[in-house]
Amino acid sequence: INFNDFAVSQDILSALDLLEYKQPTAVQQKVIPVVLDKKDAIVKSKTGSGKTAAFGIPLCELAEWEENKPQALILTPTRELADQIKEDITAIGRFKRIKAIAIYGKQPFAHQKTELKQKNHIVAGTPGRVLDHIQKGTIAIDKIDYLIIDEADEMLSMGFIDQVEAIIKELPSQRTTMLFSATLPEEITKLSDLYMNNPEKIEI
Ligand code: AMP
Repeated sequence: INFNDFAVSQDILSALDLLEYKQPTAVQQKVIPVVLDKKDAIVKSKTGSGKTAAFGIPLCELAEWEENKPQALILTPTRELADQIKEDITAIGRFKRIKAIAIYGKQPFAHQKTELKQKNHIVAGTPGRVLDHIQKGTIAIDKIDYLIIDEADEMLSMGFIDQVEAIIKELPSQRTTMLFSATLPEEITKLSDLYMNNPEKIEI
């Protein structure tokens, strides 16, 4: 199986070429078609498996460049991961000129507010700061079609899970939700039962 077996455009394939991603990893093979079909999924996989591109590739494909408000929100436990996701998505979406931004705590709120006001397609952020922007009305959430909950078990152990839930409650209910986690403790499955729509279970 190759990347051009998926329903992704030449802009994305050229970017993958440049990144020297020759073949999809196992998690990419399973996840890319599910996101392209806009179905919910719970993915049990670890870092290093290529999971960022597993959601990054279909999100870049599905994002509409003309839309100025964010269309995808990715929640991550750490700033480093938010930055990494932003970089990866920027690289995958380069020929489509996809604008990804990272927002997290311990960084000036005002700068993020400005970034959020300008055209952007995909936002990666940590739960506390994302919730802060939602409550202050400084992030537009009405066009968010895709929610990615990355490293859900890490967010649980870091005490972010209530913030994750508070964010989900604010988002449009018509959306695709993907949850990635290395382990699936009860609090995580409870969250998915409440807020996901008949999710496909993918285990690598
Ligand atoms: P991740 O699990 O998302 O942190 O990815 C781990 C590493 O694998 C990153 O450095 C990616 O750039 C790289 N990577 C992701 N997908 C592929 C692929 N299909 N082929 C080669 N490298 C990849």
